[in-house]
Amino acid sequence: MSAIERLSARFDLEEYGRLDYPPDAYRLFAVRSRNWRDELPVALVTGGVHGYETSGVHGALQFLERRAADYSARINLLVAPCVSPWAYERIHRWNANAIDPNRSFNEDSPAGESAALMRLISPLRGRFLVHIDLHETTDTDESEYRPALAARDGRAFEPGVVPDGFYLVDDSENPQPAFQQAIIDEVGRITHIAPADTHGKIIGSDVIAPGIIRYALRPLGLCTSITGARYTTTTEVYPDSPLVTPEKCRAAQVAAVCAGIEFALACETRV
Ligand SMILES: [Zn+2]
Repeated sequence: MSAIERLSARFDLEEYGRLDYPPDAYRLFAVRSRNWRDELPVALVTGGVHGYETSGVHGALQFLERRAADYSARINLLVAPCVSPWAYERIHRWNANAIDPNRSFNEDSPAGESAALMRLISPLRGRFLVHIDLHETTDTDESEYRPALAARDGRAFEPGVVPDGFYLVDDSENPQPAFQQAIIDEVGRITHIAPADTHGKIIGSDVIAPGIIRYALRPLGLCTSITGARYTTTTEVYPDSPLVTPEKCRAAQVAAVCAGIEFALACETRV
C-alpha cells in the first residue's frame, strides 16, 4: 500500500474493489496515467494475479516509478500492480478459497480478484492496444503448488520440469509472433531465456520459437484474455536460478513491459 500511495504524486489512483477474507480485508488499487486522453489507445499492465510471483508486483511498481513517464504522450496506462493481495501477503498462488485467479477470468467468476479486475477494465474494452501480465514460474510450482493442485482435484500428481529461464505465453487464438519476439529480444539482454526440454516443450506446450509457447487464453480463463487487445502476453520470469537476483527479475519484467508497449505503438503508427 505504501508503495502504491507514493505514486499518487504522479498518477491517479483508483480503488476498484475490496476482498473480504475475514478477519482481513484488502483494498484493490489500480494506477492510471494522470493526463489520460481518450483519443489515445490504452495499455494494461497487471502484476500479482498470482500473489507469490513477487517480481510481477514489484516489476509493475518499478515500471510506474521509472519508465511510465516515457509513454505518457503516446498511450494511456492502466496498471493493477497487485491483483491478488491476500496471496501476495502469504506467498501463495491461490486465493483464500483455493481458487486460482488466473484460471478464473470468465463470466460469473468465482474469484473476487478476477471479477474485480474485469469490472475495472470493462468500460475500456475495445480501447486496449496491449496487455502485459507479469508472472513467474518457480521451483515451488513443482514442489508445492502442483502436488497441492492434484490433491485438491483428487488426481495423481505427475512430476513435471521447471523451465530454467524466462519465457512468454502467446495466444493460440490470436498469435502475435513478432510481438513476442520483440519482448524476448529485450529481456534476453537481462536474463537467460528458457530452453525447450528434451521433447521440444516448455511446461508441456510446444515451443514456437525460443522462449515462446501458446495457450488458448479465453477457454482457460487467463488474465490476458480480458481486454480483447491485439497484443497480449504473459511473462514468466524464473526467480530460482543462481544466475538471477530479485533486481534482475524486476528488470526483466520492466523490460518486457517497455518492449511490448514500444512494439505495439510502432505497429499502430505504421497502420
Ligand atoms: Zn503466475
